[in-house]
Amino acid sequence: STIPKIVILGAGYGGILTAQRLQKELNYNEADVTLVNRHDYHYFTTHLHMPAAGTDSIDHTRVAISKLIDEFKIDLVKSNVQEIRLSDRKVVLQDGTLSYDYLVIALGGEPESFGIPGLSEYAMTIRSINSVRLIRQHIEYQFALYKLDETRTDRLNFVVGGAGFSGIEFVAELADRIPQLCKEYDVDPNLVHVYNVEAAPTALPGFDPELVEYAMNVLRKKGVEFKIGVAIQECTPDGVFLATGEEIKTATVIWTGGIRGNRLIEAAGFETARGRVKVDDYLHAPGHDNVFIIGDNSLMFNAEGRPYPPTAQIAMQQGVTCAQNVVASIRSKELKKFVFSNKGTVASLGKGEAIASAFGKKYKGWVAAQLKKLVDMRYLFTIGGILLVLKKGRFL
Ligand code: FAD
Repeated sequence: STIPKIVILGAGYGGILTAQRLQKELNYNEADVTLVNRHDYHYFTTHLHMPAAGTDSIDHTRVAISKLIDEFKIDLVKSNVQEIRLSDRKVVLQDGTLSYDYLVIALGGEPESFGIPGLSEYAMTIRSINSVRLIRQHIEYQFALYKLDETRTDRLNFVVGGAGFSGIEFVAELADRIPQLCKEYDVDPNLVHVYNVEAAPTALPGFDPELVEYAMNVLRKKGVEFKIGVAIQECTPDGVFLATGEEIKTATVIWTGGIRGNRLIEAAGFETARGRVKVDDYLHAPGHDNVFIIGDNSLMFNAEGRPYPPTAQIAMQQGVTCAQNVVASIRSKELKKFVFSNKGTVASLGKGEAIASAFGKKYKGWVAAQLKKLVDMRYLFTIGGILLVLKKGRFL
C-alpha cells in the first residue's frame, strides 16, 4: 500500500507521548502506526526507586500499554528490538522484521559504568520493573542470611553509588525501609549501614546548594552515611574499593552513577557521544529526515550550549513535538522546532520530604513532597486521564 508506515521503538515517556499524539492527530488511514516495546506494560521510571526499596508496590509503577493507546489505531508489538537497519529502513526484532517510512527511536538509556572494574558484573541498577524486583528481593535476602550467621555484619552494609537524582531518591527510600526490615527480621538497627558514594564534589549537581544541604541533612538524620568527592574504584563480589583506599564490605551495590544512550543506536551507525545522538532542532537524526530520536538517546543543548540532562520531562515534551513533526512530514507541511520548557525539578527524599525548584522558587519539606505527588499525578492524568490517577495515584 502507499500508506506510510510509522514505527515507534520504545513505550517509555517519549514513546507513549508520541503514540498518543499520533493517534489523535492522524486521520483515518493516513498512516500505519506500530509501537514496539519489550514489555506489554509502560512503567514509570521516575517511580522505580520506591518498589526497588520496597516502599511501594510494582502495581503503582506500571500500567498496561493497551490501556493507554487505541489498538484500533496503533499496532502494539511486544518484542525486543535487536537491530536498526538504516540502509534498508528496517528494524529487526527478536521474532521478525518491520519496515518503516518514518522511525521514532525512544528506547531510553542504559546504565553507564565508566569502565569501573566489576561494576557491570556485581552492581545492580534501577532501570526496569525486572531490575527493581531483583533489588528488593536481594535486600530482604541479606537480612534473612544475616540471621543465619550473625558474624556476617557486612551483609547489613548497603552501598548506593551515585548521589544524582536517582541515587538520592533511592537512598532516601532505602533509609525509610531499613527500620521496617530491622523489625521484621529482629535486627539491631545500629548494625545497618547505608552508604551513598559520589565521585563529584557535591551531591545533586545542578541543584541549588541550599537545597542540596537541606537534602543531605534530611538523609543524614535518616541514617545515610555520605562519601562525597570519593570515587568507587572497583566493585568485587565482596564489596567496593574507594579512591581513598578504603574498602566497604558489602553484598549489595546499587549503581545510579550515570546513564548513556542505548547500544543499539551506535550499532546502527549513528555518530554518538556517550551513546546519545545530537539531533537537530526538529528532533531528526543528522542526515536522516525520516528518523527521529527522542528522550534519553537524544542530545540537545540549551542557549548557553550546555546539554539538557536526560529527564522524563524533556522526553515527554519531545514526544509531543516529534508526533507533530511526523504528521507534518507526511503532509509535506512545515516542521516545528523543539523548544524545551522547564517546569522545574522535584527530588523526593522519602516519606513526607522532598526538595523542589519550580516557578523560580525553592521549596523543601512537606510542600515539596506535595509538589512531587502533583507532578506524578499530572503525568498519570496526561497519559491516562482521571481513571488512571484514581487507580495508580498515591494520595497519602
Ligand atoms: P524510557 O522511559 O526509559 O523508555 C524506554 C522504553 O523502551 C522502555 O519501556 C523499555 O522497556 C523499552 N526498550 C528498551 N530497549 C528495548 C529494546 N531493545 N526492545 C524493545 N523495547 C525496549 N526524570 C524526571 O524528569 N523527573 C524525575 O523525577 C525522575 N526521576 C527518576 C528516578 C529514577 C530512579 C530514574 C532511574 C530516572 C528518573 N528520571 C526522572 C529520568 C527519566 O526516568 C528518564 O529520563 C526517562 O525515563 C527517559 O524517557 P525515554 O522515553 O527516553 O525512555
